[in-house]
Amino acid sequence: MSTNKDLHAPEIFAERIISGDRRALARAITLLENGAPEANRILSLLHQNAQLSKAKFIGITGPPGAGKSTLSDALVTCLRKRGEKVGLILVDPASPLTGGAILGDRLRLPGHSGDEWVFIRSMSNRGHLGGLSPTTAGAAALMQAAGFDRIIIETVGTGQAETEIAGLADTVVLVMVPGLGDDIQLMKAGIMEIADVFAVNKSDREGAALLAAEIKMSLTVSEENRFVPEVILTSALSGDGVGNLLDAIDRHYAYLEQSGLIEVSRKKRIQVQLNGALQGLFRNALAGISPEDLARISGQLEQCILDPYSAAEAIWNLITKKQ
Ligand code: GDP
Repeated sequence: MSTNKDLHAPEIFAERIISGDRRALARAITLLENGAPEANRILSLLHQNAQLSKAKFIGITGPPGAGKSTLSDALVTCLRKRGEKVGLILVDPASPLTGGAILGDRLRLPGHSGDEWVFIRSMSNRGHLGGLSPTTAGAAALMQAAGFDRIIIETVGTGQAETEIAGLADTVVLVMVPGLGDDIQLMKAGIMEIADVFAVNKSDREGAALLAAEIKMSLTVSEENRFVPEVILTSALSGDGVGNLLDAIDRHYAYLEQSGLIEVSRKKRIQVQLNGALQGLFRNALAGISPEDLARISGQLEQCILDPYSAAEAIWNLITKKQ
């Protein structure tokens, strides 16, 4: 007979997630975000299932206001029409005061709210740089194990180089728009290199065709054997070009499969998962130190009795003593 405690056991969570229980999936992601130790166990139990799944990971990145959310929404609609089950993770910037997502777990993209095969989750980046949150990889793995065919991950979009997505996604879509000043402005930030497909969004606006031509020109000068990313004009608002974008994403995925690079992509993702799990354990270990001990060390730091490096060592010693 199962007790109430059993219902919260990682094994039960894992079973429920595999069977398509959305509430279990949502709660497991919350456990993960809260740093609950069960989350790691659930992920470990589900790893095999996640690996066996054929889920394709799409990353959506680009400057703020480029239309990433609108485009993600349009992609979800398009994928659903093609019969695919879609998980979508939206990474929001953290509020500097609360550490929580500025917009909270808002119900974005309400158009999909009745669809059981669209699972949308927004996550705070918790001040973490790089465009993702430390738990994004874990949340994506949970969705993978839950049977979603596509996992779309939209990065924060701070305009900084959000290159971390390249480790998590099979295909990175860089969304650009005309009229943002220096058109190939992101090139210097190293973000052009991680794009597998370019979406020139707001194609209903002037300058889109010119920007697409500029991007194409900048791509032809790159190395010979490299995959040449396609440049697709989209209007996320009207849906124009979104099907073409999806076709280009699929062509990139087919290239990964044919060239064998899909294995490299999967291995990179596992590394990102390892990093996320380690960060989670470290955060928990830090949280396990008594506030008095931390205050003592930080006081010694302020009074210059300790330098930052010795202080870090003192904190590390406290963590390792607890093991
Ligand atoms: P994000 O910050 O990159 O996620 O951008 P959003 O998706 O929030 O879009 C920013 C603004 O651009 C919103 O007002 C959208 O309605 C608008 N927008 C998005 N896509 C298009 C498009 O294709 N054409 C036009 N004209 N506006 C768009």
